[in-house]
Amino acid sequence: MMRSINLLVLTVTVLLTACVTPEASSVPQPVLGQLKVGFDIDDTILFSRDNFLKAPHMSDNPDHIDYGWVNQHDSLYTVTIQPIAKLISFLRAHGHEVYFITARPGINGDAVARHLTRELGFDITLNENLFFSPKSKDAVSGHKYTTKHIRISELGLHIFYGDSDNDMVAASIAGVRGVRVVRDARSVEAYSKNYFGDTRSTPKPKAPYSEEEYQQFLSNGVGPYGETIYPIYFVEPAVAD
Ligand SMILES: [Mg+2]
Repeated sequence: MMRSINLLVLTVTVLLTACVTPEASSVPQPVLGQLKVGFDIDDTILFSRDNFLKAPHMSDNPDHIDYGWVNQHDSLYTVTIQPIAKLISFLRAHGHEVYFITARPGINGDAVARHLTRELGFDITLNENLFFSPKSKDAVSGHKYTTKHIRISELGLHIFYGDSDNDMVAASIAGVRGVRVVRDARSVEAYSKNYFGDTRSTPKPKAPYSEEEYQQFLSNGVGPYGETIYPIYFVEPAVAD
C-alpha cells in the first residue's frame, strides 16, 4: 500500500514539474559573441530605383505598384550595393548572422530569396533569413506604421541597417542600434519622402530639413533620430562602349 502511495506521489510530482517547466522562449537564445545583424533591402543592399520605376502601376497612386512583379524583377533592374555586400561578407566571415527585413509585400518573395542568394553567395531562404514585413495602417488614428520592429524583436537582432526614416524608427522601437545607410543621390531624387522627412520638399513643419542640412548630418555622421550614419558612395559600374 505504502509503495503504491509513494509511486502515486512520485507520478504527481513528475506531472506537476512537467507543467511548470517553462516552454522554450520564442526568442532564440543568443550565442555569446555572435551578432545578429539585420538589413533592409531597397536602397540598402539593392539599388532598386529602376525596378520600381518600371513596375506596373495598379492605380494613379504612385505607391500602388505591382509588388509581385517587382519581387520577380530584381535580377533585371537592380544593382547590388557593393559596400554593403562587403559588410555582409565581413560579418559572416566573423561568424555573425545576417538577416533581411523588407517592407515590400511578400508576393513572389521566393524570387527575392533566389536573387539575393545568387548575388551574395550564401543561402537566403524565405522566412528563415529573409522576411517581408509590410507597413500597417491603424484603423483609429489612420497612421501608417512600420512593422519591422516586430520581426527585429522576434529574431533578437542586435543591429539594423536601413536607409529610410522608418528603418530607424523600427530599430528604435525594437531597442536595437539603427544604422542609417546613406541613400544613393538618384534614389533621394526619386523618393525623397521618408528620408530625413523629405529633403526635397519646400520647407514645412513635416519636412524642415534642406539638402544643406542633410549634408551637415552626413558630414557629422549622426542622423536626425540620433542614429549612426554608414556613408556609402555607390558608383554604378561603368558600361563598356
Ligand atoms: Mg529601404
